[in-house]
Amino acid sequence: MTETVVVNAGLGVGHLAPMVELANLFPRHGLAVTVVLIEPPAKPPSFAAAVSRSMASNPRITFHVMPSPSCHSNVPELIRAMNAPLREYLRSSVPSARAVVFDMFCACALDVAAELGLPAYFFQCGGASHLAVGLHLPHVQAEINASFGEIGDEPLLFPSVPPFKPSDLPKAALDRNDEMYRWILGVFERLPESRGILVNTFQWLETKALRALGDGACVVGRPTTPVCCVGPLVSRSGEDKKHGCLSWLDAQPEKSVVFLCFGSMGSFPKEQLAEIAIGLERSGQRFLWVVRRPHAGEASLSGLLAGCHGTHGELDIDELMPEGFLERTKGRGLAAGSWAPQADVLRHRATGAFVTHCGWNSVLEGIAAGVPLLCWPLYAEQRLNKVFIVEEVGVGAVMVGYDGEVVRAEEVEAKVRWMLESNEASPIRERVALAKERAEEATRKSGSSHQSFVKFLIDFGVTKWPVMNLVYW
Ligand code: UDP
Repeated sequence: MTETVVVNAGLGVGHLAPMVELANLFPRHGLAVTVVLIEPPAKPPSFAAAVSRSMASNPRITFHVMPSPSCHSNVPELIRAMNAPLREYLRSSVPSARAVVFDMFCACALDVAAELGLPAYFFQCGGASHLAVGLHLPHVQAEINASFGEIGDEPLLFPSVPPFKPSDLPKAALDRNDEMYRWILGVFERLPESRGILVNTFQWLETKALRALGDGACVVGRPTTPVCCVGPLVSRSGEDKKHGCLSWLDAQPEKSVVFLCFGSMGSFPKEQLAEIAIGLERSGQRFLWVVRRPHAGEASLSGLLAGCHGTHGELDIDELMPEGFLERTKGRGLAAGSWAPQADVLRHRATGAFVTHCGWNSVLEGIAAGVPLLCWPLYAEQRLNKVFIVEEVGVGAVMVGYDGEVVRAEEVEAKVRWMLESNEASPIRERVALAKERAEEATRKSGSSHQSFVKFLIDFGVTKWPVMNLVYW
């Protein structure tokens, strides 16, 4: 019976996509793999579409979709309710299971692994910097003895990242009594119960944070288990048919197009869409823009459960844009509806800059493709990622105004032109080209991520198979 690794993916495209890429590594090393998922929520969800795409394009993975319980009022409750079906499935259907890799949000499933005597590992979909900040947060919180939202703009000092403003923390962390914040801290608390944490990053990119995590207790203030960098795990479109926007890119000159895409959940009010449109038009640059229908409420996993993000289906882009915009920019600009195969777009030779919401997958996909980033963080830990991108790695710049009411057309026009054309932005373009090389090296045979993954397989005892001549991709 082939040994099986069970990958318990969490909710949301940003969690599913890298975990499916991780799962793809196991069959290359002689192991079977099963990805366990929670049934995607109501319609018309980007998550459901991503689940179908993943299932259709990854034949070497067995997928098991657990029906979502009808009664739950928030994400922590939903995830906890999945313990029973997970236990039942593992017990009855995967006798060959040798280890479970959990999305960090599924920390409560450690109880299931312990009951069944299965070694458990975590997968951190965000970066090592985010992980280190999360582990250090309770100490800083205890020192200030207040909510982060109450202490003004004085920069916070963490050993793992450049100084950042409290307002750069995820919104929930600004209120120490916030339910989601308490829940996330509880997740971090359970990390030491795992046998290791796989992180979607690579050594060169996050040296400082990894040093902090490596020193364990003395730096982050609490014990951690070994951290394995296995990234960048970048998804592929997996679609048989070439997406129209890729054909459009084929006809554009090298590095001439700015790509705008705001993750699986980001969208803007109509007024902001108009500012972007005017800015792009005035910039005179080529653009490919993934436009999503404006929605009420903030993007979050809870919003995803309510089915209000990432809507698909018919979208009248013309109606959302300033009058005549599509006609006037025809040929040099493409506004695509709702979804584009982002990783493929970024890898295309015509793409020269990326306006991003700084979701960690988007950051890695930009870096792996050598495309400089224009940071427009929206939700979750994206403001922290922005600090990291701009101030530590130097592969991007900020879209001024992201933290106010609106990013003005003038800013969109100026920054897009600056990043694509100016000499001043050359250090950023050169730096991201270097980061791309380092990312490639990390995932080559004997590269740091490759070695780290092999070490995980051997040292952590996932398999007793003689691991020789392994290839990463
Ligand atoms: N994505 C995509 N096309 C889109 C929007 C998103 O392929 O139009 C993919 C993107 O490539 C990335 C994931 O969805 O792999 C989004 O993850 P990220 O961590 O960047 O952001 P999140 O959606 O979690 O906020």
